[in-house]
Amino acid sequence: MTGLEPIETASRDEIAALQLERLKWTLRHAHDNVPHYRKTFAEKGVHPDDLQTLADLAKFPFSTKADLRQNYPYGLFAVPREQVARIHASSGTTGQPIVVGYTQNDVNTWAQVVARSIYAAGGRPGDSCHVSYGYGLFTGGLGAHYGAERLGCTVIPMSGGQTEKQVQMIIDLKPDFIMVTPSYSLVIAEEFERRGIKPQDISLRLGIFGAEPWGQGMRQEIETKLGIDALDIYGLTEVIGPGVACECIESKDGPVIWEDHFYPEIINPDTGEVVADGEEGELVFTSLSKEAMPVIRYRTRDLTRLLPPTSRSFRRLARITGRSDDMLIVRGVNVFPSQIEEQILRDKRLSGNYQIHLSRDNHLDQVEIHCELQSYLSEQTSPSERDAMAKQLQDHIKTVIGISTQVRIMGFDSLPRTLVGKARRVYDQRPKQN
Ligand code: ADP
Repeated sequence: MTGLEPIETASRDEIAALQLERLKWTLRHAHDNVPHYRKTFAEKGVHPDDLQTLADLAKFPFSTKADLRQNYPYGLFAVPREQVARIHASSGTTGQPIVVGYTQNDVNTWAQVVARSIYAAGGRPGDSCHVSYGYGLFTGGLGAHYGAERLGCTVIPMSGGQTEKQVQMIIDLKPDFIMVTPSYSLVIAEEFERRGIKPQDISLRLGIFGAEPWGQGMRQEIETKLGIDALDIYGLTEVIGPGVACECIESKDGPVIWEDHFYPEIINPDTGEVVADGEEGELVFTSLSKEAMPVIRYRTRDLTRLLPPTSRSFRRLARITGRSDDMLIVRGVNVFPSQIEEQILRDKRLSGNYQIHLSRDNHLDQVEIHCELQSYLSEQTSPSERDAMAKQLQDHIKTVIGISTQVRIMGFDSLPRTLVGKARRVYDQRPKQN
């Protein structure tokens, strides 16, 4: 694969025509082959024939993670199991895992959208690609792998963990780019630092990061520590895996949604109404070409906005603020961990590792934030300097987010690192409310 596919620069009218045609096919396919969709369509009094325009999709019912759980494992498959070439399962960040399936055509489509994503991020055929996403049921490893192969890259399927070996392989094999979670990329960067290897001496040119929320502060931190361009890739198991959207290196302005395969809507999470482009709300996807497990108006719980096209003809996602189920309510104030991360990383003396601990004392929520100094400052920072940094961060968080916190500035490497899977940031010890 070389260069852009024609649809990436097609007119909006051409894209809309393709979406409409594929949407009609998907609704009929789901309706005719999945009892769950037949039932929910009937309950809402709609039939696939009722879709005449893209806007008509709003008449159709949503699907949710609960539907996947209730139909576990194969209930939402639209083809017989014998035609399913691959199974994956979600990493289960928020509860019981769910299972998804792909026909051989779906596996091909997935490889294609990941190849397109890597190309957008600046990867080229002939590059070598180090994959540190976990391999297995998680979609990260194999998703990245097939995409990089499809593009014509040399793939190094390292998987997660074994940080010292990861770094040794990068030193020895000199890959051009890496695909990994943003949090684990910092662990890799620390190992380079420990070995005294400077960012400019690391072979990597690019990194393509996803699977967890990360902000601009984290981007700068990663870019500086690894000496690379850091690009954002978005996806979720239910929709296909990584490669639903990816940022372009030429504009670095949010992931471009591959709208010829995944139809996005933003809804008001409380009312379910579709909101206008540019307004914040919950991201909803309908697959447009998936055979084994089409998803109709799947509520991702990810909060974001749809932005106009720039480097491609497709719309983009604004940074994901967080998932609606990640939102913390602290003394009545709604807070996302990503907002706290942003404030921590404003202080260049702090690293991207942090924890948020919540407890309840005398019926009042208490928030303690544990941060780490950058390794080169760890020894030389006096207790009084740490106190001053903590006070400054507490003040910023109070002013910008509106919550009172206790900040503890700890030495480098005091907090555990997540070596495989998604970083755990929040430790909520408050008693559950019934
Ligand atoms: P799980 O739902 O068990 O975590 P997935 O691995 O499918 O399983 O995770 C998909 C979720 O990961 C997305 O819904 C989103 O919340 C998060 N995610 C993936 N990529 C990104 C990204 N680039 N930025 C922010 N969040 C992301």
